[in-house]
Amino acid sequence: MKQNFQFQQKQGFQFKDHPQEPALFWCKQAYCQVNRVFCLVCQKEKKHIQHFNEDVHGFHELLKFLSEKSKYPKDLISECQNQFGFTIKSFDKLTSSLSYKFCGLEDIINKLQNYQILQVLDSFVQFDEIRKHTENNIIAYLKKFQKILDDLYNLLELHLIKYQMIEEQITVNQNELQKGLHLFYDLLGISLNIRNKQIEALQIFDKLLLDEPYNIEIMYQKGNSLKKQLNVRFNNLIKQDQSKTCFIALENR
Ligand SMILES: [Zn+2]
Ligand SMILES: [Zn+2]
Repeated sequence: MKQNFQFQQKQGFQFKDHPQEPALFWCKQAYCQVNRVFCLVCQKEKKHIQHFNEDVHGFHELLKFLSEKSKYPKDLISECQNQFGFTIKSFDKLTSSLSYKFCGLEDIINKLQNYQILQVLDSFVQFDEIRKHTENNIIAYLKKFQKILDDLYNLLELHLIKYQMIEEQITVNQNELQKGLHLFYDLLGISLNIRNKQIEALQIFDKLLLDEPYNIEIMYQKGNSLKKQLNVRFNNLIKQDQSKTCFIALENR
């Protein structure tokens, strides 16, 4: 019972229905709409009753279940990556061969033998068909495929995953982000070592992104910092240019 309570505290479980009760069960039914972790009172109220026997387990089994479960997705992801690697190879083979077959003839066309010209002619009278096939089947398919990937990314809210880091790491990252932000805001003032600070800020953002590759805030700040760096360079160029122009104007007086 005490262990349950600790787990409850540690994970910040909020039992809306019965906050004073210890967690005793959890439910693994994918379509279940009620709270997955629940107490004896919930059970007496017959929540999860339709699938209690098959899908409800004792609370002490929960962490073991989760750590077991987390082993399996690796296979699926590796299979996706492997298949994608094969697909890319085929794609490269096809596109580079198409390019070899149909492109860059302008420079050598005068030097071809008659039989080669006939082969070129044969190839090019087929090209409209190939274009149609490519547009309908490859380009349209790739667009659809890209949409499937983006839709799944959004559906699973993969940019919002909060559970891969322990609290300490989250705090460290937040502090580092603040440090990066301070450096970034320092840049808004004129400073002699402006460029060094920018690089330092970017290094911090890069390091943070290694831990949290999908943290939108870090990406945004990194983007801002890069944009700032580009602006500084651009302004310096303009200043140099202006001073050059002034210098030339002075010289010509
Ligand atoms: Zn309850
Ligand atoms: Zn349930």
